[in-house]
Amino acid sequence: MEPKVKDLLEEYAELERGVQELISAQCRDACELCTACCCRADICEEALLSPFLRALHGRKELESDRYGFLTETGCVLEIGRPPICYEFFCSESLVAQPDDLHRDLLRILGRLPTHAGENASGDVHLVEILHEEQLEKAAFQRVKKQLQEAVEALNGIRIFFNEGTLSEQAGRVLRKITVLAND
Ligand code: SF4
Ligand code: SF4
Repeated sequence: MEPKVKDLLEEYAELERGVQELISAQCRDACELCTACCCRADICEEALLSPFLRALHGRKELESDRYGFLTETGCVLEIGRPPICYEFFCSESLVAQPDDLHRDLLRILGRLPTHAGENASGDVHLVEILHEEQLEKAAFQRVKKQLQEAVEALNGIRIFFNEGTLSEQAGRVLRKITVLAND
């Protein structure tokens, strides 16, 4: 695999792990009590279609046709989940947050994997590139910059969730990501 792709995989994996850890902590109370299921096998399948996500999770097939990668203990994909898996928050999980600022930051947090890979090949997201040859010609500089912004935002949100403070620098990058998301 092209060294530039390998490099992106490592940075994206670190971002995804951080996003997943924080979302799990913020939504644990709501999700533990939940009897609904917001996972869908057709979304899981997207993780098999994408060469970038496949390189992250290393799976070749779903755990089951009906539930995709969802098992009794949760999603079996440690990393390499489609970004929508982080972007979706049901109303219960949002209501469970202490206030509007926590809700807003949770939404931005869930959008960071999407932000990181946007427009990697024309207007195609990094995880939506379907051919390895196209992946090797991706806009690496752009994606690296977006990844750095996403990691900076992640660190700022982590500090806010842990300590209740948000630095000016973190506020700037969060505003930028929010503005781009609303374009
Ligand atoms: S995100 Fe909402 S629907 Fe999904 S498991 Fe958590 S509480 Fe349930
Ligand atoms: S979190 Fe895992 S099981 Fe749920 S939709 Fe995403 S890939 Fe599938």
